[in-house]
Parts: sequence; C-alpha cells; structure tokens
Amino acid sequence: MARPIDNPLPPLPASGVYAFGKRLLDVAAALLLIAATAPLVVLFLPWFMTDLEARIKTGELVGRGGRPLRLQTLAFPSWLGYVLGRSLRPLEHLPRLLALVDGRLTLVGPRPVAAEELDKFGGLQHPRFGAIPGLVCLWWLRQRSNIDYDTEADADLEYLETRSLGQDIAILGRTLIAVAYGTGAGSCKAGHVISGIRLVNLSMDNLLDAIVSAIDRKVRTRVAFVNPDCVNIAVRDDKYRRALGRFDWICADGIGMKIAGSLLGQPVRQNLNGTDLFPRLCAALSKSGHSLYLLGARPGVAEEAAQWALARHPGLRIAGTRSGYFSSMEVDGVLAGIKASGADILLVAMGAPRQEIWLERNLEATGAIVGMGVGGLFDFYSGRVPRAPMWLREIGGEWLYRLVQEPGRMWRRYLVGNWIFMYRIFVEKFSGANLKRPAK
Ligand code: UDP
Repeated sequence: MARPIDNPLPPLPASGVYAFGKRLLDVAAALLLIAATAPLVVLFLPWFMTDLEARIKTGELVGRGGRPLRLQTLAFPSWLGYVLGRSLRPLEHLPRLLALVDGRLTLVGPRPVAAEELDKFGGLQHPRFGAIPGLVCLWWLRQRSNIDYDTEADADLEYLETRSLGQDIAILGRTLIAVAYGTGAGSCKAGHVISGIRLVNLSMDNLLDAIVSAIDRKVRTRVAFVNPDCVNIAVRDDKYRRALGRFDWICADGIGMKIAGSLLGQPVRQNLNGTDLFPRLCAALSKSGHSLYLLGARPGVAEEAAQWALARHPGLRIAGTRSGYFSSMEVDGVLAGIKASGADILLVAMGAPRQEIWLERNLEATGAIVGMGVGGLFDFYSGRVPRAPMWLREIGGEWLYRLVQEPGRMWRRYLVGNWIFMYRIFVEKFSGANLKRPAK
C-alpha cells in the first residue's frame, strides 16, 4: 500500500547547483548516445520513411506537473527483433533521447506513467509529479534486483528525499550492473524447480497473505528460504533434502537464485528472505492479532529482536523467545515452552540445515501453525550484526558484505560455494536434468 499522502510534501524543487549539474549530465549523455546510435537510425531511415505513421508511434504519458508527455517509439522490422532479441527494446525508445535534450525527461527520476496509473499514486498531488520523469528510476532498479517489496510511490518518495548528483550517478551505475541479472518480476510461472528443489514463486505480499491465511485456516505450514548455499547443502545432505521435501513453501532467497532462475528460463519473482519479511510480518501480525515466537541465536539475541519489533509495532503479540543453543535433553522443555505460549508462528533462527531439520521434526509438537527457518535474522534485528546497505543490495552484493564481516566463516560458503552452485546450474541448463531430486 502506498504511503498515505494526507499531508503531501510540496514538490521538491531541485537546488540550483543540482538542477544545473543534472541538466548538463542529461544533455551530455543524450548527445553521446545520439551520436553512438545515429548510424543505426540512418540505416533504417528509408524503412521509417516508407510509412511514418505506422512505424513511429506516439504514446501519451504524464509529465512534470501533470503536463502531457508525448513520447515516440520506433517500430523496427521484425527480423531485427529476431537478431537482437530483448536488446531491441531500448532501441525502440531512441526518441526519448530527444526528450532528454529538450528537458522533458531526465536520466534519473520517477518513471513516466500513463494516466490510468495515477490512482496508484493517489493522484497528481503525489510529489513524484513535481519532478521531471526519468529514463531510469529507483523502483525499476529494485525490480531488477527483486527487492521491490514496497510500492513504487514509496520508492519515488525515497528518491526525491535523497536525490543529489552523486546519487543519480550512483543509480545509473547500479542500473548497469542490475541489467545483467536478467528479467525482472514480469514473466514468471507459479512455481519451479531449481537443482531439484521445488520453489514457490510468490511475491512478498503473496507470502504474507498466505501465512496469515494458513493461520486463520489452521493449516500447519512449514516455510523455508533457500539460497545457493542451501542448495549446495541439500545436494550433499540427505537429512536436509528430505526435510525440505516436507516443507510446504520453499522460497528463493538472494541474487544467486535469481541468476539461476534467469539462466534456467524460470525467472524468480521476488527475493524472499526472512530478514526482509520480518518487519512486514510484524506489521501484518499486529493487525491480524496472531502471535510470534522467536527461537534461535545466542542467549539474549532473540529478546533484543523482539524488542526491536515491539518498539515499531506496539500491537504485536510476542508469545515468547528462547536462544537456539540447547542440548537434546532440553528439547522436550523447549517444545513444552513454545506450546504453552500458544504461539501461532514460530521463527527458528538456527541456520541451515539445522533449523529446517528441527522444524520438520518438531513443528507439530510446538503447536504453532506456521514454522519458518530464518537464519541470521535475529542477529540483524538485535543490532548485533549490521545488514548490508541498500545500494549494495540493489546490485546483488549482500553476500559480499557478509563475506567481509565474517571472512573466516563465510569464505567457503561464498568463494567456493557460489562457483559450485553456478556449475550445478550450468550443468542443469545444458543437460536439461536436475542433478538431484528431492528424496521423498
Ligand atoms: N544458531 C543457533 N543454534 C545453533 C547454531 C546456530 O541458534 O546451534 C544461530 C546462530 O547464532 C545464528 C544463526 O543460527 O544466529 C545462523 O546464522 P547464519 O548466519 O549461519 O544464518 P544464515 O542467515 O546465513 O543462514
């Protein structure tokens, strides 16, 4: 849902220096790109001239201040589409370079939208319409990186509140990297299989709705988030693979799974992971009234994560917390404690494969309806382990951050594991077979 705009911010005027620098950058980039693509345009000029009306189409979008923004698209011959594939699309929008020169568009700004989309932003009073629309926007970048959990209106506000020349150049740089990750959310199937693991292909919102609905219907549900490291573990660890086989929803976590999905022709819809889910889950549960139990991490960490959640969602019901270090003798006591708490959802943060094997065995005995393995989540929200900054997540670099934080523990997972995972995906792609199917 869009951030309510009952108290709309005034359109944010760009400062003089920023506006001047931005304009200079737009014109310089447009002229460079026009020069680079001129031979192509000249080559196809006769083609366009034979039927201008059919081959140069004009669409109307909403420009700055709600003014109409007319932009042309070029219809190249279809054989060029066969040759260039998806790379033809940017070429179809070449006339936008002229709009860059005359100032109707800018390189980075809110996406130019069609009039039918205005409702999504609460109308023209949204501050995004006070800015010149952009060729590239923060929302698009986050879609490419599968971290578009909030609304486009929110991403636009974030951009407008933080924009600067440095920020614009950084967004352009990150866009170049994000383009390499393959398709965004658009074209994906309901579910698919990567390395023998059957994944659901939900958006974050779908997953939240499905969790709340499972509790309402009292359908016991196990949820796992699987990243390339988990796939590597599943291939060599029978117990983990068998446990995952009994999970109801397995979600693709991280940029590695997105790349794998793209390579296998099964695009992953959104990066689903416990850490991004947690604040949204707390918000949903504080509305629905369901309660949460936090099991895992070192002593005191789960309590601190619970305090973080309660400070932001005072209506949230935390049924209990407990550290994830206990002996097999203590398991019965842990189970009885969770059962007595009456928790609806149990988050288990003990790392893969331990947490999934534990949930597979014990969820029923805890009485919780939904059980989820969430890895290092409590460490992040307790504030003990800082999370990678957003700009690094936008270019799929969260793993690099974790590697630098804990090189001793993470080097094998990332520096060796990532390559093994990519090798598996290539074998899978070219043999058309999964290396290992989940054991039943
Ligand atoms: N952990 C635990 N019990 C154990 C082993 C680990 O509670 O017996 C916790 C550990 O303290 C950490 C989490 O499990 O909070 C796993 O973190 P990791 O960074 O491995 O998870 P990831 O998110 O990378 O899967």
